[in-house]
Amino acid sequence: MPFQCPTCANPTLEITESVELGPGDDDDERSLQLITCPCGLTGAAFYRESRRGSGESWHHEGFLLEAATIAQIREHMARRELPADLLPRPSFAMTLAD
Ligand SMILES: [Zn+2]
Repeated sequence: MPFQCPTCANPTLEITESVELGPGDDDDERSLQLITCPCGLTGAAFYRESRRGSGESWHHEGFLLEAATIAQIREHMARRELPADLLPRPSFAMTLAD
């Protein structure tokens, strides 16, 4: 399912890899993903979903990353860990293309 690319504005942003990290402190489901677009965008995305409290909530954030950082993200995906330095980075909302 393609997403809207924040760089070229086309509906061509794709998730190429996705690994479930399992539940976190505040979330029931967490997934760490790699994203790419034909325009040259590379990065990662983090999906989290909570079914606690009143109703469901979910967040899906994308991060623009250099190739060297993506190599580190791949290592974290292999260990099913969230990179501690990922979330403080500037992010954009992952938006499904129509
Ligand atoms: Zn693009």
